[in-house]
Amino acid sequence: MTISSFSSPPMDRVMLPESKEEPWDMIPHPDVRVQTSDGRKIAVHAKFLISESDVLRFMIFDRPMKKDGDIPIVSLGGVPYDAVVTFIRCLYSSSSSGPAVKKEEIEKYGVHLLALSHVLCVPWLKHAVTNDLVLTMDNVVDMLKLSQLCDAPALTLRSLTVIRRHFPVVVLTDGWNFIRENDPKLELQVLRFNEEYDKRDKRTKKMKKNLVVYIALSEAIECLHHICIEGCTVYRQPNGENMNIEPKNRQKPCIWGNTCRNLQRKLRHFEDCEAIKNKTSVMAIIDEDCCYCRKMWHLFYHHSALCDGEGICNVPLCSLFKISSADLNHNSKEWKLLIKKVGSIAVFTRMSIKRRFGIC
Ligand SMILES: [Zn+2]
Ligand SMILES: [Zn+2]
Ligand SMILES: [Zn+2]
Repeated sequence: MTISSFSSPPMDRVMLPESKEEPWDMIPHPDVRVQTSDGRKIAVHAKFLISESDVLRFMIFDRPMKKDGDIPIVSLGGVPYDAVVTFIRCLYSSSSSGPAVKKEEIEKYGVHLLALSHVLCVPWLKHAVTNDLVLTMDNVVDMLKLSQLCDAPALTLRSLTVIRRHFPVVVLTDGWNFIRENDPKLELQVLRFNEEYDKRDKRTKKMKKNLVVYIALSEAIECLHHICIEGCTVYRQPNGENMNIEPKNRQKPCIWGNTCRNLQRKLRHFEDCEAIKNKTSVMAIIDEDCCYCRKMWHLFYHHSALCDGEGICNVPLCSLFKISSADLNHNSKEWKLLIKKVGSIAVFTRMSIKRRFGIC
């Protein structure tokens, strides 16, 4: 687009499209005037304005407030002259080669472009400005206020996020002092957002922590299945030839490496541990002091909840847990949820390990 400057009033500028399909001499004369708050006038073409804004169409054709002879005048007050010129340039660019607003223009006139695009209903420009407005600790409170005046929820969210992240610094700014003294509703909204964000953050961290536990548990359960039911062909079995291993599984390579070796070491400890020898009930083991055996007890316990093998299962205590399930509160909501999560993660663990080693 070319902007020609006229040296004397009443016309200060004539807006022309930068690229055009028709020859220059075919461009019609500007047929609308835009007047800014300092009284200057810009000659523009209605077709570029009305193609982007129904509000401008209404102001130009349906109810023009003022006219210069036969030419309608659109007043855009409250915004600096250069910002209005930039706004019109954006409308012209959009008409000729798709939406275009430069980052430097948003940096310089972002606030005014947002206000104009909101009032005159130019959604693509409002969206672009909302996304690219630069938020600093000094201007973020003003941007929050502006986002609410201009109904720009994306900018509201960006502003609230920046305020929360730099809250100790933001509270020292003039913008925050103004809000605190004059807009308690907005102040409350900011404080509530911070509180909600912190709660959500804590919940997310807790969920991530739980997920790590579920993954570790499901991997251990899968490895236990590999050792006691499939039969590890690389490392020593906990009870050697007595394992009831299906023949089709005997040739499978061990894909668990150190996990398998460590778990087999713990299984051997569980078999030989003096502390739990001669214990007649499964519940008696958990009361003993040996932390290794207590951990293994929990592992066997979770395995038994997922074990669908009928008859004898090679995993230690599995059959006993199944018999004692009524005493172990297997019907509690928390227990069912835990087993459901561990069970579904175990399926993914099995699939991903097998895929990693090209077994399926
Ligand atoms: Zn193994
Ligand atoms: Zn022990
Ligand atoms: Zn079992």
